[in-house]
Amino acid sequence: MKAMLMDRITDLSWDEEPLRLVDRACPVTGPGQILVRVSACGVCHTELDEIEGRTRPPRLPVVPGHQVVGRVVERGPGADAFAPGDRVGISWIYSACGRCKFCLGGNENLCAEFQATGRDADGGYAEYMAVPQGFALRIPAALSDAEAAPLLCAGAIGYRSLRLAALRDGESLGLTGFGASAHLVLKMARHLYPRSPVFVFARSEREREFARELGATWAGEPEDQAPVRLRGIIDTTPVWKPILEALRNLEPGGRLVVNAIRKEDADKASLLHLDYPAHLWMEKEIKSVANVARRDVSEFLELAAAVGIRPEVEEYDLAEANRALVELKQRKIRGAKVLRVGVGS
Ligand SMILES: [Zn+2]
Ligand SMILES: [Zn+2]
Repeated sequence: MKAMLMDRITDLSWDEEPLRLVDRACPVTGPGQILVRVSACGVCHTELDEIEGRTRPPRLPVVPGHQVVGRVVERGPGADAFAPGDRVGISWIYSACGRCKFCLGGNENLCAEFQATGRDADGGYAEYMAVPQGFALRIPAALSDAEAAPLLCAGAIGYRSLRLAALRDGESLGLTGFGASAHLVLKMARHLYPRSPVFVFARSEREREFARELGATWAGEPEDQAPVRLRGIIDTTPVWKPILEALRNLEPGGRLVVNAIRKEDADKASLLHLDYPAHLWMEKEIKSVANVARRDVSEFLELAAAVGIRPEVEEYDLAEANRALVELKQRKIRGAKVLRVGVGS
């Protein structure tokens, strides 16, 4: 089969061919695994982090890609959850132990044996991929392959962050930073909590304008004081200062959810300005988001189909993965980038 293989850590700013197109043997399905013929695979910022060594795969080479849509073509011993031809999606979570308290409690994203698709195991930048059947998810019919692929990552994590904010309808929500994930969260919040006003803190006027178009009650600068205190705030910025601003904007007992894989060190010193009475006292909480559980992905896909959340998609052939990655790095973003692999819907 054809695959785009990552065999080294490199820097995309000068190396524009980080992945190599290879012909390699099809994966063999182990017990409980299914073989999926890939039709579409989303291209994510996390692939840049893997290639540039910020989220290093434990072993190289590896096939990247964790927003995978395809059809079941083969079942390993004991794998009977799907029939050949069934359409499935595979997200960042590739497997977990299934026995620990986190797995048993539906938080398998926190399992010590958590394995990531396309980092710890071969992913979807290939014609075929094998996966434990319990980690392949059905995709609502309303979504095409190329539409579903990009929803498997940013949307699902956004959904988890909104779930962790634990709002009730009518309670106010803040969004700090307004990128791909946050704008999906705004759409979800409008649907799930129709009476909740949403306040968006974003650096650029274009983002603030977009937030208002999507139904935000108010949009301001990250340093602004929101007109009311907020019950929950979701931070998707890569820096620290907005954490303090957000804590200041929380109401007593409010919760800040930090949806970021890592924070840059550049402005870490701003945390020294933490003022306990202004920022933390009155039972304010801070919670981070790590990965996704299967429930987040499944529930988000259903929600996306119901609400009509459809990403704008820009398609590339599998062999053009390097160009897609370089354009992502250079922020040439028209829509979510998706690799077309076979003949899908
Ligand atoms: Zn991703
Ligand atoms: Zn576990």
